[in-house]
Amino acid sequence: RSEIRNVCCVGAGYVGGPTAAVMAFQNPHLKVTVVDRDAARIKRWNSKHLPIFEPGLHEILRIARDGSKTTSFINEAVRSDSLDSMSSASSASSECESQCGEHREEIFVQARKPNLFFTTEVSKSISEAEIVLIAVNTPTKMRGLGAGRATDMTALEAVSREVAIHSKPGAIIVEKSTVPCRTAEMIRDTFKVHRPNLDFEILSNPEFLAEGTAMTDLLTPDRVVIGCSPTPAGHRAAESLSSIYASWVPRSRIVNVNTWSSELSKLVANAMLAQRISSINSISAICEATGADIDEIAKSIGLDPRIGDKFLKSGVGFGGSCFKKDVLSLTYLAEGLGLPEVSDYWTQVLTVNDWQRSRFVKRVIRCLNGTVVGKKLAVLGYAFKKNTSDTRESPALECIKSLLEDAPREIAVFDPCCDPAVVKDEIRRLIGADVLKESGGPTEIYSDAYQACFHSHAVLILTDCDEFKNSTSPKSPKLLPKSAGQSAIDPRPLQRLVATESEVLSLQKYLSVTFSVDDPLQRYKDEPECEAGCQICPELGK
Ligand code: NAD
Repeated sequence: RSEIRNVCCVGAGYVGGPTAAVMAFQNPHLKVTVVDRDAARIKRWNSKHLPIFEPGLHEILRIARDGSKTTSFINEAVRSDSLDSMSSASSASSECESQCGEHREEIFVQARKPNLFFTTEVSKSISEAEIVLIAVNTPTKMRGLGAGRATDMTALEAVSREVAIHSKPGAIIVEKSTVPCRTAEMIRDTFKVHRPNLDFEILSNPEFLAEGTAMTDLLTPDRVVIGCSPTPAGHRAAESLSSIYASWVPRSRIVNVNTWSSELSKLVANAMLAQRISSINSISAICEATGADIDEIAKSIGLDPRIGDKFLKSGVGFGGSCFKKDVLSLTYLAEGLGLPEVSDYWTQVLTVNDWQRSRFVKRVIRCLNGTVVGKKLAVLGYAFKKNTSDTRESPALECIKSLLEDAPREIAVFDPCCDPAVVKDEIRRLIGADVLKESGGPTEIYSDAYQACFHSHAVLILTDCDEFKNSTSPKSPKLLPKSAGQSAIDPRPLQRLVATESEVLSLQKYLSVTFSVDDPLQRYKDEPECEAGCQICPELGK
């Protein structure tokens, strides 16, 4: 451990940024540098306007990146026991119920030297590090051989080359990106080409965090999987990485496996999670046809410890940048290995996911007398799930696309975590500028849930944001649904659901919204502590 002083993380995205932040936060003796070729992204990481929204991220950055000198409020969800034992923090905590509510604590963090840096100096930072984490994007390949299924290795290949050229001798290279099985071999071959006379160890250390709970997941992981080659040098490298995690993760949760198991375990974890969602969604169709209640089914089966109660919420299907592409990658891998039955099995998980979404859209239209012409539909929730601003593979976008085909008067979109300008840009890019209100189209993005719902004929709840939960009136399940992926449509009165002001007022009751008090969007947009002369604020105003 004493040999490791500098860690470089290539890729300042949803994985690289938070992972490096927690690593630096928990290891004040390390210098952790996050590099990215995207200068705009790095600029944001160095500002108060972070490029991603993740609960608790600001608090950790305030300590590791800024060397916090002042008190900071740490949300209970983010606080880990290890905070107390942090050597340089010597933090004293006191309850702060009157000001912040019972879930928050005031932590007095002593000034500490910043040890987390964000920069675009890729090669320089790589050359200074004893450990290089590769956390670049590995999306689905869109053209050529394997298009639509295979993993696009362009970014990973480019970074491998750069790392091979610039790494200091003996540096440990770590795959954090989700990659097809045996990618470490490809990286090793790249090193052989560029540094033929030197030995480098390539480790696999997939990331299991979930967006929206990334900080808690990183601070208290179920497990840290480290794959290495079965040689003394491989085990030594794995131990060096383990010792960094051991600063805050119990040793019993650090799992050492071989490199290929480690790589494959990430794909399998996501495939199994996606499969559970498709499984429960397929049963929701049977429930709708029989009168059984999907939530009651989930409760009944979830109490069986062999099944467990997680990931049994039926909804509009999964989205996000990972599940679909990782299942696709698994099916492609299976097919390449001559296992078509395995490939077909996992393909069905995706088929059911698409089917569930289209079933939902059809149901909405059917409930509105088979036509949405002249009607306003409010879409609450645009990101792929709650507590994130990530809109990649958002089910909402696909629903909006399908609904637009039926020519509604308006589709009003609102998400508490998404910057309306970003949503607008995305719709412009992925559906077309002509569907936006500003170009005479029907789609408008709102920064206020009530305005979005005002005079709407149906409210479609597409993420499980807490703000949208029908917590105040359990007796009115018809008006607002219990879970995401359902529409607030009462099939009997048909047509007008939220058409009068009093109905909007009653809707306010159902939406337990307190946006003005603790509004993630507000935090996302203009952090109150922004210094004069902030370069990002004017950009946001555009
Ligand atoms: P991302 O797109 O948010 O970030 C990737 C970053 O890598 C981008 O900022 C990009 O500019 C940078 N990059 C690409 N090529 C580069 C290069 N040559 N030099 C420097 N920087 C480069 O992606 P992400 O969501 O953080 O995912 C990263 C990896 O982690 C993927 O393999 C993904 O499957 C995996 N993963 C993601 C999640 C998640 O929830 N997002 C969870 C676990 C694992």
